[in-house]
Amino acid sequence: RGDSADFDKEVESICPFCGVGCQVSLKVKDGKVKYVDGINGPANEGRLCVKGRFGFDYIHHEHRLTKPLIRRDDAPAKGLNVDPGNWQTHFREAEWDEALDFAAKGLKDIGGTGVAGFGSAKCTNEEAYLFQKLIRQGFGHNNVDHCTRLCHASSVAALMENVGSGAVTATFNQIENADVAIAIGCNPIENHPVAATYFKQFTKRGGKLIVMDPRGQALKRFSSHMLQFRPGTDVSMLNAIMNVIVEEELYDQQYIEAYTENWEAEKEHLRDFTPEAMAEVCGIEAETLRDVARTFAGANAAMIFWGMGVSQHIHGTDNSRCLISLALMTGQVGRPGAGLHPLRGQNNVQGASDAGLIPMFLPDYQSVMNDGVRSAFTEVWGSEDFSNQKGLTVTEIMDAVHDGDIRGMYVLGENPAMSDPDVEHARDALAKLDHLVVQDIFITETANFADVILPASAFAEKSGTVTNTNRQVQMGRPAVPPPGEAKEDWWIEVELAKRLGLGWDYAGPADVFAEMKLNMNSLNNITWERLERENAVTYPSLSPEDPGQAIVFADGFPRPDGRARFTPASIIAPDDVPDQEYPMILTTGRQLEHWHTGSMTRRATVLDGLEPEANCSLHPLTLRKLGVAPGEHVRLTTKRGSIEIMAREDRAVSPDMVFLPFAYVEAAANILTNPAVDPYGKIPEFKFSAVRVEAAAQD
Ligand code: SF4
Repeated sequence: RGDSADFDKEVESICPFCGVGCQVSLKVKDGKVKYVDGINGPANEGRLCVKGRFGFDYIHHEHRLTKPLIRRDDAPAKGLNVDPGNWQTHFREAEWDEALDFAAKGLKDIGGTGVAGFGSAKCTNEEAYLFQKLIRQGFGHNNVDHCTRLCHASSVAALMENVGSGAVTATFNQIENADVAIAIGCNPIENHPVAATYFKQFTKRGGKLIVMDPRGQALKRFSSHMLQFRPGTDVSMLNAIMNVIVEEELYDQQYIEAYTENWEAEKEHLRDFTPEAMAEVCGIEAETLRDVARTFAGANAAMIFWGMGVSQHIHGTDNSRCLISLALMTGQVGRPGAGLHPLRGQNNVQGASDAGLIPMFLPDYQSVMNDGVRSAFTEVWGSEDFSNQKGLTVTEIMDAVHDGDIRGMYVLGENPAMSDPDVEHARDALAKLDHLVVQDIFITETANFADVILPASAFAEKSGTVTNTNRQVQMGRPAVPPPGEAKEDWWIEVELAKRLGLGWDYAGPADVFAEMKLNMNSLNNITWERLERENAVTYPSLSPEDPGQAIVFADGFPRPDGRARFTPASIIAPDDVPDQEYPMILTTGRQLEHWHTGSMTRRATVLDGLEPEANCSLHPLTLRKLGVAPGEHVRLTTKRGSIEIMAREDRAVSPDMVFLPFAYVEAAANILTNPAVDPYGKIPEFKFSAVRVEAAAQD
């Protein structure tokens, strides 16, 4: 590794991958990042996982975009057909002025609701803020969204409805003050590895960890209870646990009376969900459900963590409603070691949502339907009013493209050609667009369909703030310059806005942050200068000296009368249930070494070396039945499509299930997934599709 004398400089920044938000030191030599170390950030205290420590060299990959590209007149028809190392058949290089003029003119010519925007949780807060402003100010509507729609939109819908705030009520580090914790529908050892180290420490000092997941997982080894329930039956299992708490009067009457509403309706609703009746549905024995109920209700301080396994269902909002009700009825919010914590997936999905990169909310979750809110923003922006209607979400935008209602798109850092459910539908939509502007660091699958590609910056090449799962706003700093003529994203957005006639004038991200503060109370007492000095401040911060509140809602909730709400949830079956033709259950997710659509981690030498090949996980009994040996290929077929992929033996997956990571373009999981959405969060049901698994012809 060498010591500091071996490097030209060391720059402190933030890991670009998961929502834990580990602080890193980037060691630079000869204009390149050579090593990464963990430093003492509030979320990681020096720790890093394999992605943070070894997954950085994609920033120097030969596929990096170094010049703006414009689609050639004689390019082949739009499709997933560009070789990122040999793109000259499809695109020609252009100067920045030409590319920006071309990008802006195409969007302007279409104009109004004919244009939509996808930002990204990989954006900094300032970039996300500018992006939503560009769509709202430039096109007069709210058709702007990002990948939060595909991860925790249903959790946020339930939290906003019942608690009045979409963010966590306590940092994950608060687990050190808990004696019981539930981790449901999340797999932190793979997906939030540094957070998982705190979970393990918690169990080592005697904390009881209740893991609930249809798939077994490494955290099982540390758990007091492992509930491997039937996929899609979260509501029945959680309602049964709450039924026990009601029937045995284990709830916190004092807390309920002081801080909640609608308790009687919830209590009545739960009467029918007896453990005996629900055991049949969820596959967990009644006595285990009782034991879990008593353990959780008997805790002095308890936390609930959840992930995509809860949110990515057509009943994702109901799943989260149950978790919120469980915490409220036991008074487990607003104290040290108590709270609700949806583990956020991307390093800035919290911040991008806070910054208004969503179709129903302006920054700080202020409704676009509120006239006073819109006028507060247009006053700062010096612009006309814009639509008071909620905009379209990610999947709705793709449908609108198919219908011909949207003909132009601006996509910054998002990769819908890989990340959308039923992805062939999304790819067809992208091919139909009259004008697609893509801003990214590589020719992603989405950039394959672009009319113009604007080369942007990786995390180690730019300034900006990001907000992690803990509500910690943290400072990212540039360690190396962008390659070739690539630019920082905020600069590209500003130049595009100028060409759209918006008259923007920012000297840099600090200027943008200052503007954000004018209409975002969450940033009170947090300044750019303070973040440069302190690296991280948690919101809310109550004074210029306050490092921020790790726990919120000790004295009530940001809802009418300060009361949180119980919203009863009923059982809704998954949309695409197994039948004779598609008898098994497909579930998708991440794996430790790869991240999201793989555009970064599959170009990181160590990570790609560890996991170079697309794979799915099947139970040994299933493999035996198919006559397939581990390492051989299977064919997975759903109502949407079919892929062939290498099969891995995994006892954690039940015999009627297949687990499929979504990072691999050559066997794209989302060719198979179901686009049906939760009615509140509009999140697709990535976690449950009926699938047929067969042996494939072996190589
Ligand atoms: Fe990066 Fe997340 Fe790993 Fe931390 S836990 S190093 S933020 S990927």
